[in-house]
Amino acid sequence: MAYDDSNIFARILRGEIPCRKVFEDEHVLAFDDIRPLAPTHVLVIPKGHYTSAQDFAEAASEAEIVAFVRAIGRIARERGIDASGHRLLANHGADGRQEVPHFHVHLVGGRDLGRMLP
Ligand code: C5P
Repeated sequence: MAYDDSNIFARILRGEIPCRKVFEDEHVLAFDDIRPLAPTHVLVIPKGHYTSAQDFAEAASEAEIVAFVRAIGRIARERGIDASGHRLLANHGADGRQEVPHFHVHLVGGRDLGRMLP
């Protein structure tokens, strides 16, 4: 799917819209979700323009992918939800109800999240 750089996360990356930044490095930005589902609800996004996990896996460099995965682990540790557990979620497309077409992972934790699948 073609990347639309008018999406809200692209605007956050350009500094046009504020965010509550949690982590940033050369390849990754992470910030608190404005509608948190749990005590920790962080969105982790690559700085590159990828719409989906598939796009990211196919088009990103190994350095971007490693930085992304490591950032998730680092934030989980810093938020104290590594040992207690947490959930990683990436919505994709219409059926996945993806709202923002810039690939992102939700890192959610800090309470018992219940079962997601029956
Ligand atoms: O459904 P999707 O995985 O695309 O979720 C997008 C998320 O981005 C939502 O949880 C929404 O609360 C969050 N969001 C945000 N800041 C914005 C716009 C959306 O944290 N300015």
